[in-house]
Amino acid sequence: MNPVAPDRVDFYDPGFLVIDGEKFVRVAREDPSSEFPDAEFRDFKDKIIVPGFVDAHVHLPQLAIMGAGQGELIAWLNTYTYPEEARFADPEYAENISTAFFDELVANGTTTAVIYCSVHERATDIAFTAAQSKGVRAFIGKVMMDRNSPETLREDTEDSIRASMRLFDKWDNAAGGRLRYVFTPRFGASCSMPLMQRVGQIARETGAFVQSHLSENKDEIRWIGELFPEEPSYTAVYDDAGLLGDRSIMAHCIHLSSEETALLAKRRTKIAFCPYSNRTLRSGTMPYRKLRDAGLTIALGTDIAGGPSLSMFEQMREAISVTGITPTEALYLATLAGATALGLSGRIGNFDPGKDADFLVVEAKAYRNPLDALSTLCLNGDKRSVTEVYVRGNLMYF
Ligand SMILES: [Zn+2]
Repeated sequence: MNPVAPDRVDFYDPGFLVIDGEKFVRVAREDPSSEFPDAEFRDFKDKIIVPGFVDAHVHLPQLAIMGAGQGELIAWLNTYTYPEEARFADPEYAENISTAFFDELVANGTTTAVIYCSVHERATDIAFTAAQSKGVRAFIGKVMMDRNSPETLREDTEDSIRASMRLFDKWDNAAGGRLRYVFTPRFGASCSMPLMQRVGQIARETGAFVQSHLSENKDEIRWIGELFPEEPSYTAVYDDAGLLGDRSIMAHCIHLSSEETALLAKRRTKIAFCPYSNRTLRSGTMPYRKLRDAGLTIALGTDIAGGPSLSMFEQMREAISVTGITPTEALYLATLAGATALGLSGRIGNFDPGKDADFLVVEAKAYRNPLDALSTLCLNGDKRSVTEVYVRGNLMYF
């Protein structure tokens, strides 16, 4: 199944993928083996091959609390998230969770992810090392928080900038460009304007990626209004700080006004749509069609542990159920749209020749035609459907 556009998946049944080293060379419906006499051949029989998933928004330090908790965003952060993230002051704990996180990620078929760590520089460094040894493509950032957060996690503004810069210098474009650093001011309530403005300035000067949360929860939005009474909207706070640009990824964007949507579109900011998390935390429903029709690039994210699962199949299912989009569009959101949001549509996201051979092999239930197979996967698939995962042509999970 090769996603090529929001309304188009090309099916190959039977299908043949030719891989040379780390790259796809060809995707075909006719057996090309006579042209490649020295090639090794593997037959996946009636299983289905899908491009590696791109998770556009996920919190590594929340792996151990997936599915825990009740209540809405702010209470959940204080009760569950912050105490768990404080544990990442311990490098040994950070290492254990980081290793488990990347193993789980790949086992779910995700080969590229955009990741939040905790505020700890050492723990973030450990996460990068774990991503590098696993071989996945990862965009990772140390969370920045210099106010309205527990003593254990609150940073001095300058220390937060300096630590982030050290990580950026060390890791951005490492591992042949597969690792990128993302400046990660957590959200407007936990970051001062001077901190966010410094990040905006760095992003402008270096072209660095930025990620944050925007307009997730109504109490959060009220709080932002109290903290920034001079700003007309939540989005305007980030715009004032210079955080919105085409390398910025904003998660959630549920309760935006039309002006805010237009501003994001003008800045070409990318949107991470996390429907399972939005439902679990009772945040509301992102107006997907409205944002899409405004021209915004939208990709899917699991947002664990707000979302209770690392499976992109489950995100596709949630996306379909809350927006009414087709399985074709859901698969696009989980693959090529994520690649596009990251400026990588020429390198990953589908089987186009020359792209990284990142793909998963999934169990196919009995189906009448490929379109049925796609909808069955979207509506019924999960981690257990994944039988093999390849990253740049290497079998990483089976
Ligand atoms: Zn999040």
